[in-house]
Amino acid sequence: MGCIVKTVLKKIKERSSKYAAEKLKHGVCWVGYEDTEGYQHELEGHNHKDFCEDCIVDVLAEIESNERFEEPEGFKEIDYFVSHNPESNDFAYCEACGHIIASTFDPSEQELEHWLSLTKEEWESSLDADVTYYELTVILDNYGIVEENDGKIKQIAKTVFTFI
Ligand SMILES: [Zn+2]
Repeated sequence: MGCIVKTVLKKIKERSSKYAAEKLKHGVCWVGYEDTEGYQHELEGHNHKDFCEDCIVDVLAEIESNERFEEPEGFKEIDYFVSHNPESNDFAYCEACGHIIASTFDPSEQELEHWLSLTKEEWESSLDADVTYYELTVILDNYGIVEENDGKIKQIAKTVFTFI
């Protein structure tokens, strides 16, 4: 592993672990329903929102109690899908509580470019929050996995190093 990457990972470990222990969520959930024949479907209008396992039950209850909720044809009951540690290229955030939901992360170019485009002020305010240390840990942990990402990951590590 690149030396700078390793060094930065070590320096940000404590706050990253703090986020992982206190805030990180598990299980990417999305809203669906079961039909009268026992099949699961996604619920239109809710397809693209991720929720964590802690929030999904409240989300379902809220949808069901909403008087404007229209049952799709063949509807039996509201239900949800869950995927544990799904593969993703971007961080999944719970739409309800806002925390990151753990995934197997392979950063997209866009994700790496996002970090590389931060200004000094943006870095400083981002580094106020534990979540940033977690995100950076996940990104830097990808060093050595996809060769074409390594240059950018190393560059991110170098930038972080100047702030911590
Ligand atoms: Zn949540």
